[in-house]
Amino acid sequence: MFWADEIAEEISKRFADKIAKKDPLIIRDEKTLSGRVHVGSLRGIVIHGLISQILDEKGIANKFLFELNDFDPMDGLPVYVDQSEYKKHMGKPLFTVPPHEKGAENFPMVFGNELKETVKPLGLPINYYFLRPEYLSGKFNGVITEALNNAEKIRKIYLEVSGGAKPSDWYPLNVICEKCGKVGTTQTTGWDGTHVTYSCKLHLVEWAEGCGYEGKVSPFSGKAKLPWKAEWAAKWKVFGVDVEGCGKDHSASGGSREIAARISEEVFKYPEPFNIPYEFFNFKGKKMSASKGLGASAKEVADMLPPKLLKLLMIRKKPNAPIDFDPEGNTIPNLFDEYDRLSDHYFKRHKEPFADFARAFKLSQISLQSEIPDIWQMRFSTMIFIIQMPHLKLENEAAKLKGSALTKAEKLDLAERAHYVKQWLESYATDEYKYKIIDEPLADLELDEEQKEALNKLKEAISDNKLKWEGAPIHERIHRVKEETGIEPKKIFEPLYQIFLGRKNGPQIGWFLSTFDRKTVIDRLEKSGK
Ligand SMILES: [Zn+2]
Repeated sequence: MFWADEIAEEISKRFADKIAKKDPLIIRDEKTLSGRVHVGSLRGIVIHGLISQILDEKGIANKFLFELNDFDPMDGLPVYVDQSEYKKHMGKPLFTVPPHEKGAENFPMVFGNELKETVKPLGLPINYYFLRPEYLSGKFNGVITEALNNAEKIRKIYLEVSGGAKPSDWYPLNVICEKCGKVGTTQTTGWDGTHVTYSCKLHLVEWAEGCGYEGKVSPFSGKAKLPWKAEWAAKWKVFGVDVEGCGKDHSASGGSREIAARISEEVFKYPEPFNIPYEFFNFKGKKMSASKGLGASAKEVADMLPPKLLKLLMIRKKPNAPIDFDPEGNTIPNLFDEYDRLSDHYFKRHKEPFADFARAFKLSQISLQSEIPDIWQMRFSTMIFIIQMPHLKLENEAAKLKGSALTKAEKLDLAERAHYVKQWLESYATDEYKYKIIDEPLADLELDEEQKEALNKLKEAISDNKLKWEGAPIHERIHRVKEETGIEPKKIFEPLYQIFLGRKNGPQIGWFLSTFDRKTVIDRLEKSGK
């Protein structure tokens, strides 16, 4: 069974009662909007979105909530903001930091908008919400009271799980300093049941400096927030979360997930949601990380692939396996090939189609409801070649390879692929994928007698006008020559590429030769066979 179906089945067993009552299951994920959204976050979004889609498919009511966290303190400066200008905002709640780009309401909104735009083409059933309005509306007031009343218990959990000792006057709450407006620099030191006392400390954290102010304030309705591990647990209760996975870095023993789970169960009396721990997304693009100095953002990777290929990339591997992505290597061509391979299983072009492959193909689609058209698609590697050949027209070659004219859907798909192939060739492809027809056969091409004889025989064979000038018959002639002369395959194939491309390999040989006119091929063989 495909991994996501297994997870959906476990979920439907665990929440059988809730499902029977037709209460929607709540799936949740979040992102703190402190910088451009990294591609790793996209994996979490797609995993949660896919589970929601599968539950929909099974007729199980559910809702996928995605939090855009605009309330955390600014605790780092991205390289693309004016460092001297933004340094003063360190420690402030993100929603109070001004935007560094025009058009957004505040700093976190810039990233929130980019994330929404990036994720939109994937068609996942996401319900976005911002965190701060939820505090303002008073939704967190109950959990704030519970957390403050149980400060000692929470301190004990931190100590037991991660070994992090908190002083006895530490309370799980960060007040927004009434004087300097920072939330990352304050420590709550007392709680009387209605108000908290706090101090804005100069050196509480390394990344921001407090103002020294000491005050007393009501902690409710947006004046303060919970620190993140306690807050994570609080969110599960506030939003009634049933399913929430998280990255491997949080899931480790003694990590934040374990602390949140214990706070949730022991303080808020709320069961830890069903976890889906997932591994890292390893990005290896040298060019990209060097030029921008930030690794890859979700948007940058999303721009490299059609949405269903991006979705496939994110779901093809089980969550507990890392995804390696290198735009300069084989990742992108392999991903397209994989998509085509899976489609062969889905459309039963195999005698024994493999159910998991067919399912992976189905789940990579943007909508799981609509029927998938069975269309002819050109291989990525073939497109790489055709697009670089000024003498070839993509649609003509496609029709030749397919054996009939393309349908409207096939033309649209071909154009979409062509866009991504061109982009990849221009920005990432290494020399291995670059093809250029040389003007003259190489002068220094050294062939032995056996090779010369084979090429001469081939020249004669293709001079025969009865031979249809198409890939398959040409291919068949080459093989016949190979058998007649007993030459090693490599020894006949390599010079055929060399006399046109100046390199020893290229696309499928029969088809490759068919893209030139017969006379050109005969001439070149003539020159090289001497
Ligand atoms: Zn202050």
